[in-house]
Amino acid sequence: MRLVLLGPPGAGKGTQAAILSEKLGVPHISTGDLFRANIGEGTPLGVEAKEYIDAGRLVPTELTARMVEARLNEPDAAEGFLLDGFPRTVEQASILEDLLSKQGVSLDGVLNFQVDEDVVVERMLARGREDDNEETIRTRLGVYREETAPLIDHYGDAIINIDAVGEVDEVNGRAMDALSALPR
Ligand code: AMP
Repeated sequence: MRLVLLGPPGAGKGTQAAILSEKLGVPHISTGDLFRANIGEGTPLGVEAKEYIDAGRLVPTELTARMVEARLNEPDAAEGFLLDGFPRTVEQASILEDLLSKQGVSLDGVLNFQVDEDVVVERMLARGREDDNEETIRTRLGVYREETAPLIDHYGDAIINIDAVGEVDEVNGRAMDALSALPR
């Protein structure tokens, strides 16, 4: 199964993706996690990405797309994946479409995790990641509204809305129910 996970920062996408990945048997590919791993290892990509991440801004698409392409070409992603954090702009969505069409495959759906802004700010402040201070949170929500939210229209009928307010298990149940209703 090939899925994209959408939702504002702090919607719990990463947590849900980890559980879904286990249940569906496909890798969880998080661009944020890939960047953080590169930062941790001090790679040139990590060094370049860090200044954008620390500011709550998007890492340039060229850099991000190259990293995603390499990851999608790894053997474990051949039969499916959960993409968490990519695409984040309509331009990135077109790049993804091109990458997948080169492989002769397409997305099965786009899960859109819906949650109010006051809930996401609360969740982000609680998780305490390095880029989770109030100022970057505000910047990231602005970036989400302007650059990422238009993807909901872009994906149109492929969007599967999931109410992301509630306990982790509850939200996961909703996602699993929605996925079991997908045509195979
Ligand atoms: P996340 O873990 O998804 O919240 O991502 C953390 C940070 O990584 C974001 O605030 C961006 O700076 C960067 N990032 C993650 N995914 C992307 C992407 N698809 N395009 C550009 N920047 C990204």
